[in-house]
Amino acid sequence: MTDRSKQKNWAGLNFNNSYVQLPSAFFSRQSPSKVRDPHIVLFNQPLASSLGLDSNALMSTQGEEVFSGNKIPEGTDPIAQAYAGHQFGHFNILGDGRAILLGEHITPDKMRVDIQLKGAGATAYSRRGDGRAALGPMLREYIISEAMHALNIPSTRSLAVVTTGEPVYRERTLPGAILTRVAASHIRVGTFQYASSSLGVEGVRSLADYTINRHFADLEGTENKYSAFLDAVIDRQSKLIAQWMSVGFIHGVMNTDNMSICGETIDYGPCAFMDNYDQATVFSSIDQLGRYAFGNQPHMGQWNLARFAETLLPLLSQHSNLSIQIAEDALHGFSIKLKRHWLSIMGRKLGLFNEQSGDLSLVEDLLSVMQNYQMDYTNTLRKLANIVENPESISNQTDFIQWHQRWHQRLQSQAESIESAIELMQSNNPSVIARNHQVESALAAAEQGDLSLTAELIEVLSQPYDENPKNKPYQAAPPASSEPYKTFCGT
Ligand code: AMP
Ligand code: MG
Repeated sequence: MTDRSKQKNWAGLNFNNSYVQLPSAFFSRQSPSKVRDPHIVLFNQPLASSLGLDSNALMSTQGEEVFSGNKIPEGTDPIAQAYAGHQFGHFNILGDGRAILLGEHITPDKMRVDIQLKGAGATAYSRRGDGRAALGPMLREYIISEAMHALNIPSTRSLAVVTTGEPVYRERTLPGAILTRVAASHIRVGTFQYASSSLGVEGVRSLADYTINRHFADLEGTENKYSAFLDAVIDRQSKLIAQWMSVGFIHGVMNTDNMSICGETIDYGPCAFMDNYDQATVFSSIDQLGRYAFGNQPHMGQWNLARFAETLLPLLSQHSNLSIQIAEDALHGFSIKLKRHWLSIMGRKLGLFNEQSGDLSLVEDLLSVMQNYQMDYTNTLRKLANIVENPESISNQTDFIQWHQRWHQRLQSQAESIESAIELMQSNNPSVIARNHQVESALAAAEQGDLSLTAELIEVLSQPYDENPKNKPYQAAPPASSEPYKTFCGT
């Protein structure tokens, strides 16, 4: 068979690789290791079209060869990226241990995206790892990252999952798989930490200049562009975490190497959505101290950004005192920005068209009622739109009924009609989220070779604001169980 993937622009792929222009210490050239018997099990047709890719060409034997790393299409320059990171507070030199960046694809509308194969074999940064990934975690990343995208939350995307026909050895022997991940870039807080600790100020400067050019081009030419860059990263990150908080998303492993500079959610390992509202919710089995608990995410976001700001200190000013002042002022802005973003999202979720002085306590009081009575976060907010007149159908607890009266008065005091408030709520409160027990059932079936539940779940989660009868089973809270749900790092 002729290798059509070697033809220029095969399947619409249009590579133009800029990361390899950075100093060579930022990456290692590395081709994927071949796998025995690749099969596409998931393919994201809407994403492919939005990237200008030809789905028919990709959903083929050639496509399987490309998504598995067995064949390298024309124009790629495969690398593993170097980075460092604070993992649960401890600094380590890391790097892509099992992910290989094929290159940067330029879409028809001139967007530049990374196309990366996750689970594509060992690299210079694999340490003791095997460079491989198991099917369950790769499907999980596909399901949840696409669900986040459908919730309008910036996220890396998932283009395909292939099985490799090879086993991977974890606590059990599992089927191996590779995820094709699409991201605005894979530049992390940890990439800056690597530059700072291993390459010094000139390394940080080249990375900062590269990142500004790639993601914050409007800052070129501003007076202190590095300080503006810090502010812009803080702004995107504050908005991102506010969005996570608004849907009950728990990232689970907010190490600095898992925090993308351009403000996308990245690295779906032990992440999960919470059912009952509880600030202390932790799902990850390795997060025993609750460092990355739901309610701690804003604080950890700020901690990570402080590590980022430290790497920029030598660029912020020639005087170290002034640099520290600039960084502290910028970091101080984080919690203010986050709260502002969060309150504006939460206001829309409660059907409020503008902001008034009592709104913060209106939101916070609802959350404390939910916390006190272990109410389901997603379902309670979604139901509010349907019970504007009839709160008892959610709860007959006195504090909830009293809260409801206050909220109802607030709705009546705004100029917009109740009907438009209801519409606003329905388009801001998802009727479905990726619930842990549903995701687990889908993955269990997939491991036995039945992908139908996974496909159906992905379909339902792609329209999270619809009131589709198909959504009903997916709205169910998990069955009562004595064992709290646990997630494991996606290795
Ligand atoms: P994570 O917790 O998934 O963000 O990964 C932390 C680090 O471990 C990154 O440098 C990964 O590339 C690396 N890593 C994770 N799993 C593997 C694996 N199976 N083989 C090699 N490196 C891995
Ligand atoms: Mg990671």
